[in-house]
Amino acid sequence: MRIFEKSTKLNNICYDIRGPVMDEANRMVAEGMDIIKLNIGNPAPFGFHAPDEVIKDMSLNLRSTEGYSDSRGLFSARKAIMQYCQLKHIPNVSIDDIYTGNGVSELITMSMQGLLNPGDEILVPAPDYPLWTGAVTLAGGTPVHYLCDEQADWYPDIADMKSKITPNTKGIVVINPNNPTGALYPKELLLEIVQLARENELILFADEIYDRLVMDGKEHIALASLAPDLFTVSFNGLSKSHRVAGYRIGWMCLCGNKSYVKSYIEGLNLLSSMRLCSNVPAQSIVQTSLGGTQSADELLLPGGRLYEQREYIYNRLKNIPGVSVVKPSAAFYIFPRLNPDKFHITNDEQFALDLLHETKILITCGTGFNWIAPDHFRIVYLPDMETLKTATDRIERFLSTYHQ
Ligand code: PLP
Repeated sequence: MRIFEKSTKLNNICYDIRGPVMDEANRMVAEGMDIIKLNIGNPAPFGFHAPDEVIKDMSLNLRSTEGYSDSRGLFSARKAIMQYCQLKHIPNVSIDDIYTGNGVSELITMSMQGLLNPGDEILVPAPDYPLWTGAVTLAGGTPVHYLCDEQADWYPDIADMKSKITPNTKGIVVINPNNPTGALYPKELLLEIVQLARENELILFADEIYDRLVMDGKEHIALASLAPDLFTVSFNGLSKSHRVAGYRIGWMCLCGNKSYVKSYIEGLNLLSSMRLCSNVPAQSIVQTSLGGTQSADELLLPGGRLYEQREYIYNRLKNIPGVSVVKPSAAFYIFPRLNPDKFHITNDEQFALDLLHETKILITCGTGFNWIAPDHFRIVYLPDMETLKTATDRIERFLSTYHQ
């Protein structure tokens, strides 16, 4: 009998968020066990619901959005995105430079597929949101990881980034605010990245899906706003800020100088048409979401759920012996470090499995984010305070005796 196997292109993709730890958690749930899930950035199941007006407007538009839209998206959605770009000082974005997608995920894949040939390299952060590494690989390119430095608030290490640029490098991916570290990058640092891209004629890929989830009065600066003379592809969407991850709506904007990327844009248009269009009912809520008062602001201020949960998880983790942690400024992730001298962890997937078996808590290990050593893990602090308390109590107890 002929045996059909998966494409060899998939062999080198490390996508541990969906790996054996997740499989084991699913098996345990199927057996009736109660697992505390601190592993996935999906706000709605944790009681972070979409604003009522967003739901209402989508229902009102269901009839008129039955058909395909323009392959890039509805005019009204793209106009609202264009105006959002104007507010964020993102230069030179017209209606035709905006592509809606079934989440940012689809567009990340599209942006890499439209560009890369075998041998091409893309600089991707370590730790990263692992879809980026996977998308580069799937498109036939080579992801090259630059380090983000925990000692420097998890900011990208510019010297490391510079040292990894080769004649084959095509672009730099910047995830800001960052998943999994929750870091928000300052203007001076972004300017340094832009300068590197300028000197080496690289495309910038700015994943800014958490730009509306920033705390402590800090301000997110769009990378493209600092690089009007360069070509930047900016990504954003409503999954997180408007808690509608299930509706699948994101967008990609081609910004700045497009004079040297005409053929790449042709490729993107082709790929966009090949998938006909993105989910049209979800496009119908973009205008509502980006205008008016439909934001997550109150969740991010003192007294707001995201703010208070960030404070709680940070203060608890930093007081656990052997654990150190940088306070996140944005999104809803925290990426603590486990002291190798104390825990001797050589396999962090095994650590995640041990934690799961002993405490019934599901986290994602650091190497799942292409981190370089088995000494970190990520917590999503979306579950309510009571659950976070139970979870941190259990983690603290588990770590008081654990070593590999
Ligand atoms: N980019 C980053 C940094 C993310 O963390 C995520 C999801 O967690 C995405 C992109 C994809 O989001 P979506 O496809 O829901 O728009």
